[in-house]
This record gives sequence, C-alpha cells and structure tokens, in this order.
Amino acid sequence: MALKTIGLFGGTFDPVHDGHLQMALESKKVLMLDEVRLLPCHQPPHRDTPQLSSEQRLLLLELAASDVDGLLVDDRELKRDKPSWTVDTLKECREELGDEVSITLLMGTDAYNGLQSWHNWQMLPKLAHICVLQRPGYQLPDHGVLADWLAVSTAAKIHTEAAGMVIAIKQPMLAWSATTIREQLTRGIRPKGLPKVVFDYIVNHQLYGFTEKKY
Ligand code: ATP
Repeated sequence: MALKTIGLFGGTFDPVHDGHLQMALESKKVLMLDEVRLLPCHQPPHRDTPQLSSEQRLLLLELAASDVDGLLVDDRELKRDKPSWTVDTLKECREELGDEVSITLLMGTDAYNGLQSWHNWQMLPKLAHICVLQRPGYQLPDHGVLADWLAVSTAAKIHTEAAGMVIAIKQPMLAWSATTIREQLTRGIRPKGLPKVVFDYIVNHQLYGFTEKKY
C-alpha cells in the first residue's frame, strides 16, 4: 500500500537560501513526496547561536516558501524552550501523524557526516527515513555505521514503509552557504543565492548589518 509521504527539512536557515529551496524541491520531485515541511531550528544544539532571532528566520522562510507549491513551514521547534533535538521533533511528528505515514528527514552531506554527534542519533531511522543530499565539497561516508545504513537501503521503500531507509540523492546541489551569504551582507556585498523576496526583506530591515549605501 502506498503511504502518504512527508519530507521534513530542519535547519537554522540564517538566512534561507536557494540551496535550501533546491534541496527541498529536488527531494520532493525525486522521491515523489506529497509535501516538504521546512522546520527552523530554535536553539541549535550543534552550532553557534544564529545571528537572526528565531522569529526573523521563520518570517524569511515563510516569505521564501509562500510562492512554492508543496513547501510548508512548520514552526514547532520555536514552541519548545530547550535545545531543538531532531529526535524530539520526529517523536512529536510521529505522535501527530501516526505510524501509517512515511516521514523522510532531509539533510545535506555535511550534516549527515556529523550525525553521530546528534542526541539519540540511533533512534532517528526508527522514527523516519533519512535522505542525504549532495552538498558540494562534502562526500558521503565510505565506512562505518553511516555508510552501512546507506548500503542496505532501498529508495522505493519510502512509499511503502513509514521509516527505516537511509538513502542519498547524488545529484550535486547548488553550493550556496548561509555563512558566506551572511559575511557578504555584513560587508555590504549583494550576495548571490538568495530568493528575491528574502533579499528585499533583508535590505528593507537592514538585517545582518546590510545597508544599501554600501553597495
Ligand atoms: P552554513 O553555511 O552556515 O553552514 P547552511 O547553509 O548549511 O549554513 P543550515 O540552515 O545550517 O544552512 O542548513 C540546513 C541543512 O541544509 C543542513 O542539512 C545542510 O547540510 C543543508 N544544506 C545547506 N546548504 C546546502 C547546500 N548548498 N547543498 C546541500 N545541502 C545544504
């Protein structure tokens, strides 16, 4: 029986860029997902505190997703006043959606390579499938548990099983990075790789220290 398929894509999105949108849309198309939900992280456990507040990052995501069919924004992590562990988010989604929905967690190769430092990482494939997207400059692991997970999985099962597959989409994504974009904005350089609506909001509100007079 074909299950309803939902992709969950978490990140700091500081700010959301075209690489993120391409990842969401490419996995939706290749895996034939019914929808993809973008989840801004409130308190990232593995990264520096984001430059923008959670509410600002959420607003930029909503602007970027508003024009795109099948992309939704899910703000559940902002409602938990503690580190945004992905395992907690998946447990919450599972409770809401039940066991008859296929959930796929989307992430880039850089994130997948660091997965073993995530809270209760072994639980993740019990709660969802994982799909890794090729971030330029990062390779998939070639040995160890994370490589083994990839080796035994089958993409087609995303539609018939609720969780448990770990697959990769090998087509390289765009090389945009939020860190580079933030650095450029702070230096007054107009960055490439931002959706127009996001760039316009940043300019109008002088986010990341960007001021029009600098460019
Ligand atoms: P930074 O450049 O500061 O590391 P980022 O661009 O990675 O930020 P995040 O919000 O931290 O943005 O990333 C969320 C997710 O998106 C992670 O799983 C990351 O691997 C993935 N990702 C971000 N940019 C790309 C990209 N260009 N290609 C593939 N995956 C990406």
